[in-house]
Order: sequence, then C-alpha cells, then structure tokens
Amino acid sequence: MDVDVLIIGAGVVGSAIAYYLAKTDLKVAVIEKEEDVCTGTSKANSGIVHAGFDAIPNTLKAKFNVEGANLIPKLAKLLNFEYKQNGALVLCFDEKLRDHVEDLYQRGIANGVKDLKIIEKDEILKREPNVSEDVVCALYAPTSGIVCPFGMTIALAENAADNGVQFIFNEAVETIQRVQDGWKVNDRYHAKVLVNAAGLYADEIHNQFVDQKMNITPRRGEYLLFDRSVGDLCSHTLFQLPTEKGKGVLITPTVHGNILVGPNAQAVETKENVNTTALGQEEIRSKAQITIKHLPFNQVIRTFSGLRATPNGFDFVVGQTADHFYDAAGIESPGLSSAPAIGKWIAQQISEQLNAKDNPHYIATRKGFIDVKQLSDEEWNDLIQQDPAYGIIVCRCETITAGSIQDALTRSLPARSLDGIKRRVRAGMGRCQAGFCLPRSMEIMQEQLGISLEDIQLTNSHSKLITSKVKEGIHDGKQ
Ligand SMILES: Cc1cc2nc3c(=O)[nH]c(=O)nc-3n(C[C@H](O)[C@H](O)[C@H](O)COP(=O)(O)OP(=O)(O)OC[C@H]3O[C@@H](n4cnc5c(N)ncnc54)[C@H](O)[C@@H]3O)c2cc1C
Repeated sequence: MDVDVLIIGAGVVGSAIAYYLAKTDLKVAVIEKEEDVCTGTSKANSGIVHAGFDAIPNTLKAKFNVEGANLIPKLAKLLNFEYKQNGALVLCFDEKLRDHVEDLYQRGIANGVKDLKIIEKDEILKREPNVSEDVVCALYAPTSGIVCPFGMTIALAENAADNGVQFIFNEAVETIQRVQDGWKVNDRYHAKVLVNAAGLYADEIHNQFVDQKMNITPRRGEYLLFDRSVGDLCSHTLFQLPTEKGKGVLITPTVHGNILVGPNAQAVETKENVNTTALGQEEIRSKAQITIKHLPFNQVIRTFSGLRATPNGFDFVVGQTADHFYDAAGIESPGLSSAPAIGKWIAQQISEQLNAKDNPHYIATRKGFIDVKQLSDEEWNDLIQQDPAYGIIVCRCETITAGSIQDALTRSLPARSLDGIKRRVRAGMGRCQAGFCLPRSMEIMQEQLGISLEDIQLTNSHSKLITSKVKEGIHDGKQ
C-alpha cells in the first residue's frame, strides 16, 4: 500500500493527527497493533480537559494544553461527543500552603488560562457542600472540563475514516526502513512521511531514527469508579494541592454521571501492567477522604488503571525530529487535553511539507450515537417506528438499545469487540458491568457480523469468551 502519511498508533493523539490530515487531499493511513482505536492509555485516564494552569510556562505541554482545551468544546459540537465545562477546584487544606495556590494561579496566568481566581472556604463549601470542612482556600478554574475519552478518540478517528483515512488494525509496526522517497513499514506499506504516535512504545520507534534518544517509562495510575446513584457527590473536578507528601488524588464527576476517584502514581516494570492492587486502592481511598470525608465505597462498580508514558525529559516531544519523520512522543498528562492541538499542529507541518490541498469532499460533522435516555417519549416512539431495534433494551443499567449496538457495529469505523461496543455506546458500563447484557450483546454481534459465538472477542484475539459448548466440551475431553 502506498500512502503519503502513515501514522503509527490509534490513540487519541494518532486519531487527532488523522482527523486534521483528513481535511487535506493527502492519502493517509493509521496502523494500530490492537483491534480498535482507543485501546491504550487513551482509554484509561481521568477524562479531564485541563484548563492549563499546571504545566510549566513556555513548554510544549503548556502550549498544546491551553490550545487543546480551547479546541475540544468546538470539536465536541462538530463531532458529537460528550464534553462538559464543569470547572475545577484545586483545594488547599493547610494555611501554610496558601502561597502554592498563588503560585499555581500565576502559572496559569502565564500560560494564558482565562478567568482563574482564588476562592475561600465559604465559597468552596457553597459550591461543593460535601468537601471537608478542613479546606482553607482553592484555585478555581472555570474553564476546566470533562470529556468522554473514548467518545472523543472514536469521534476523531471515525470522522477521519469518513473522510478517507484508512485504518489498519491488528498489525504492529515491526520493521521500518528508510527508502529513497520515504519509508517502508513491515515490508508492505510505503509512506512519504511517518508519524510516531505509539504511546508507551514511541521511544522504541523514535530511537531508531533520531540522534537524541529518549526513554519512556510506564507510571501506573489506578482508579475507583462509583455508580451513577452517587453522581451528585460533587459537580466540579476536585484536585488536591500537591504537598511534600505527593500530588494527591482527584475526585470528579464523569460526563456520564458517575464519580471517578484516583489516580495514584506508581512506576511499573512492564508497559502492559494495568493491574489494580490492594495497596494502590487503599492509597486512593485514604487520600480521597481528605477531600470528601464519607465517600460511599460500597458503591464502587469498577476499578481500573492506566499507564502514563513518562519520558526522560520533562516535556512532550512533538515535531519533525528526523527527515520526514514526526514524533508525538512522551505524551503523558495532559495529553488527552492537548491531543487536538498536537494533531492540528503536526497536520499543518506535514501539509506544508507535502504541498497538500484541501480535501474537496470533506465532511465536517459526524453523527453521534443515539442515547435514548436523552429523548422525550414522543421522540423515542418515533425512533422505534423507524427502527424497532431502538425499542429493545439490552443494557438495563445504562438503557442501551439493540439499535445503538447495531449502529456501533456498522459505522465506518465499526466496533469489532465487546469492549469496542462498550466504548462506543456504553453497553456494559453500568452497575452490573455487563452481567446481564453480555450474552445479548454477543448474539447481536453474531447476527450482525455473521460470525460464530466462539469468534467473539472481549478485546483482541487473545480474549475469546467461549471455547466450546459445555456438553460438546465434555465429549471432546476439553472440560
Ligand atoms: C492515569 C492517567 C491519567 C490521565 N489523566 C489525564 C487527564 O485527565 N487529562 C489529560 O489531558 N490527560 C490525561 N492523561 C494522559 C492521556 O491519557 C495520554 O496523554 C493520552 O491518552 C496519550 O495518547 P496517545 O495516543 O499518545 O497514547 P495511546 O492511547 O497509548 O495510543 C498509542 C497507540 O499506539 C499503539 N502502538 C504502540 N506501539 C505500536 C506499534 N509498534 N505498532 C502499531 N501500534 C502501536 C498502541 O496500541 C496504542 O493504541 C492521563 C494518563 C494516565 C495514565
């Protein structure tokens, strides 16, 4: 296959680069080792669109964070993904640390963050009555937001696919050769420009071609996710002011009405270690109770973890670091917030280099998935008249219909695993964690894709759910 640009990695960064390149007439492909977009770090993070007060001024992190946070609300409208500007509070619980709140405020001003202010205990408790009475003051950042990280990544990638970008899944980049007019990847893809957006593995690709070597270490962050029944515990994202004891943990609502608590930060040895641990969970529980004293831990429905791709330098590595080779590497937090700005900037550089023109058939918008909970009874009835599958509830916890699951399986960038369905339409995201809807979702996959139940995967090809029928298994001696 011959393309102008080959992007390695279909996380939020690779997808954002693909989204902006799809506005041009360049031939673009994305190659991803897993079965879908958003299977790496982009699927397991806090989902905060950081306002930009945390990054050190004049770094790439500060620049792309602030620009990205401005782009995301517009993209959310255009591409139909969930975003909410809920504002953030960085809470200070020690009068002696008030100066640090002031420092953070000044840093935010230097980075160009708008409407920041320092507020006192009374106002904090008026805004957030469940916050501990020990609070002293806080930095208030009204421009901070929350986003569905899957929704955003899938929307960017799907719009790119609608506009002609080709996605190659289930294929890791193993060999890269520099050839006379570009690059040869895995002996069968030829590209004029190569983009490295390989997340945790970006150092391995970077170090093959760039003189200044980099090293990425995985730093794990664990989380607890609370049921939607306690979703009104807080409305802002509640950070703790970093102290000499560490960075603290955050408590935030999610765009879907859950409460998310975490993450801690722990160096781990392998880039695949996304376990959760008793120690990690305990650390988060005890730290979170500094912010809200009586958290209802009996309402936790899921624990999970994500891996920060922490580079040895302190900043993102973004740009043309070798001839016709672009890096978007070392993209740790605030990478989700920064991704659209990184994507836009890299796409601009490549477009100029390759003299790209506008895509004459560009489709600017994307249809979101229908959430029947948002419809009036009349609208829902009309929908059922058009497609009766929208009258069949499959996931009872989240009110997800067979119609939505079918939609997820038949888009330009369709779900090909149960997790792919879950990330698109939330079937299995609720309190029972797919206990009830899993068999029905599998049947819909079977019908829609014409595959056998044995071929259905939770995630990639190593995660089949069914090996054989119990009775046949006994016969074959498999059980
Ligand atoms: C605990 C935690 C909390 C965070 N919270 C926030 C937050 O609230 N807000 C925020 O802005 N940011 C946050 N971040 C950071 C953010 O999640 C990341 O910066 C962002 O998701 C990185 O995206 P990516 O596309 O670079 O990486 P990834 O999503 O990991 O994507 C890289 C992709 O490359 C693929 N790949 C790797 N090697 C190869 C290969 N050889 N061939 C083919 N494909 C390959 C991988 O399979 C993967 O899909 C957080 C991160 C963590 C871990």
